Amino acid sequence: MQNTLFFMNYKALRIILILIFTLASLNSYGHSGASHADEEVNIYSGRKGKLIEPMLEKFTSKTGIKVNLITAKSDALLKRMESEGKSSPADLFITVDVGRLDRAKRMGLLQKINNFSIMTKLSPNYIDKDREWISVSKRIRTVVISKNMKDKNDLKNFEDLTRDQWKGRICVRSSNNIYNQSLVASLIANHGEKKAEKITKDLVSNFARKPSGNDRAQITAVSKGECDIAIVNHYYYILMLNSKEPEKRKAADLTEVIFLNQDNRGAHVNISGVGIAKYAKNVNNANELISFMLEKDSQEWYAKTNNEYPVIKDAKVSKILSSWGDVKLDELSLNKLGDLNPNAVKLMDRVGWQ
Ligand code: FE
Repeated sequence: MQNTLFFMNYKALRIILILIFTLASLNSYGHSGASHADEEVNIYSGRKGKLIEPMLEKFTSKTGIKVNLITAKSDALLKRMESEGKSSPADLFITVDVGRLDRAKRMGLLQKINNFSIMTKLSPNYIDKDREWISVSKRIRTVVISKNMKDKNDLKNFEDLTRDQWKGRICVRSSNNIYNQSLVASLIANHGEKKAEKITKDLVSNFARKPSGNDRAQITAVSKGECDIAIVNHYYYILMLNSKEPEKRKAADLTEVIFLNQDNRGAHVNISGVGIAKYAKNVNNANELISFMLEKDSQEWYAKTNNEYPVIKDAKVSKILSSWGDVKLDELSLNKLGDLNPNAVKLMDRVGWQ
């Protein structure tokens, strides 16, 4: 009898204890969710600090979540994440170009993003099919031409660059650059591999010189008359236009941006984007930061700072981009550019794009 009484009391005590612990844990979860005391998120960013830091500071003042930022070249960060393995402190990886986001995914360095409020903000074209990366801004790879170019009206489509008319007049950087690889991947996606190979081969035969230098160097080459057409990302032109260096401003003054394929599929688009690291310890905070980056104010600040295009509908573009007017964009799913990257690299090798 005494034994039964003890057992019953013990059982009741256990239930009470479980209830107390459950209530206590609910309360502490609720509390930390509100103030984020001691919460943090660790970013590995291929983008320079000044292009993201003010936005991260706003995130911290809004949420209380501390942001630790490490910036370096994107591919060096990928190597670092790979060698750090499970002990990597990285929660969020920020980089440019879908080809590189896809590289991170193929290396097994990212995980599925499970925040559905993020997914509904973007067109599916700008989200990885396995939800391992999402876009935060858009950029256009297009041409900058000499203002003096007499036959500029003949240049309407990227495919026009294959004509004999442009022999010895095109400057572009090397084929190991990811921007060019994604551009060629878009040609394969739009035309099929055989036709894309012919287009790329004819394009290469019109190069003014062996590919060298970055995108800005191609614009400078046009301004100096070394070529008439430079294949570049649009924001480099704006960077030169707003540069503190007179030489760069002069190069921009002598040249102009043209958007191609405006009467058909639209201009070739690429992105900057983010993914959550495979071994992230602060997944909730990483999700919260991604959501913040997709808020209208953040999108407008980010787009204005980088002179890129926002990825959410109602966000405004920078003054200069709005003065350029509406641009028709190629609505190709960016997933295809990642998938076709290996084909693009081999194709460029075959046609002798150095
Ligand atoms: Fe760039």
